[in-house]
Amino acid sequence: MNIIKELGAAKVVGITGHIRPDGDCTGSVLGLYNYLKDNAPDIDVNVYLEQPSDKLSYLNGFDAIKNVIEPDKKFDAFIVLDCSSIDRIEPFADGFKNADKTICIDHHISNDSFADVNNVIPTASSACEVLYDTFDAGKVSRNTAECIYTGIIHDTGVFKYSCTSFHTMEIAGKMMQMGIDYSDIIDNSFYKKSYVQNQILGRALLESVLFYDGKCIFSSVTRDEMDFYGVTGRELGGIIEQLRLTDGVEVAIFLYETGDNEYKVSLRSKKEIDVSRIAACFGGGGHIRAAGFNAKGTVYEIVNRIGEIIEQQYAQE
Ligand code: 5GP
Ligand code: MN
Repeated sequence: MNIIKELGAAKVVGITGHIRPDGDCTGSVLGLYNYLKDNAPDIDVNVYLEQPSDKLSYLNGFDAIKNVIEPDKKFDAFIVLDCSSIDRIEPFADGFKNADKTICIDHHISNDSFADVNNVIPTASSACEVLYDTFDAGKVSRNTAECIYTGIIHDTGVFKYSCTSFHTMEIAGKMMQMGIDYSDIIDNSFYKKSYVQNQILGRALLESVLFYDGKCIFSSVTRDEMDFYGVTGRELGGIIEQLRLTDGVEVAIFLYETGDNEYKVSLRSKKEIDVSRIAACFGGGGHIRAAGFNAKGTVYEIVNRIGEIIEQQYAQE
């Protein structure tokens, strides 16, 4: 796909990504925004996204992000990035559905091809990688390069997850050639933690529980704890990664409370278990080694159910 050719004569374009936007979602959305601003100046480009973390505010176009669609705004084309299903673009679904042409650029294995044109590559490390391949390489500016690099490092865990390929590194190398400050991007947008984030990470690790002969680990954070430390769910991102690194663990599970008996659940695996299949059993989705879902019930009910599915997967092997 060549994104500018795909847009044809479209003059008013909307861009969005999934709810609770992460580095890859925000990077791909703003990467496309910058690329179109630079190379298709006649297009009225509008970015709609739930407010991303301020850690990503160095990305050019961050200030142009709108959190609501203007009433009666009509789009010739609407592009969704890093999103596997239409229910994950609320509250922008109406703008998307009413557009003359819809395009999805994604890398989720669980993507259900909900747009008119779907460019979905499940083997790609990130939506940014898929997006970059829709660009003319010579037309990528430093601003766009910062966005693409950011998305790649976030979805590869700084080039270490199994989704990282030769092509991923090739694109990252090209972005480095554009003069971006790659060390700062990695430190400030990926590794940096606030003091309270470190405190709640420490607490979650302290209260983590190993089960299934040490192959699984889980931990959870309640709303009261989040209120006490003054953090939102978005700021709990690094906890699941630290749980996953535990020696001997194949599957890590992290839950944080979003309502009465309601949890956002993150899953990670190392080599054997397909966590996207577990998430799908709960109506969620994601990738083989990183997936998530929302669930009702107590922590123990949810973790027990996940444990049963893990046991089934081991039994099938
Ligand atoms: P995380 O655990 O970091 O929130 O998400 C890991 C991966 O699973 C991401 O690629 C994310 O897009 C996907 N994911 C997380 N939660 C959900 C969900 O509720 N539904 C779907 N379809 N995918 C999810
Ligand atoms: Mn992604």
